[in-house]
Amino acid sequence: MRIELLEFLVCPRCRNDLNLLPKYIGSEEDIIEGELECKNCPQVFLIENGIPNLLLDDFN
Ligand SMILES: [Zn+2]
Repeated sequence: MRIELLEFLVCPRCRNDLNLLPKYIGSEEDIIEGELECKNCPQVFLIENGIPNLLLDDFN
């Protein structure tokens, strides 16, 4: 995902901003692997193969 995309992303649980924790950055500042961490709640989302996964995983 592009770094600029971060400003449009919010936590789907609480609608707060996300912190980007990049692990692998490809060409043109594409985040290939990393994590998006909510600034407000403990929710963490993975970025895998350049795709941020913002799905909530608690179905209980
Ligand atoms: Zn949150």
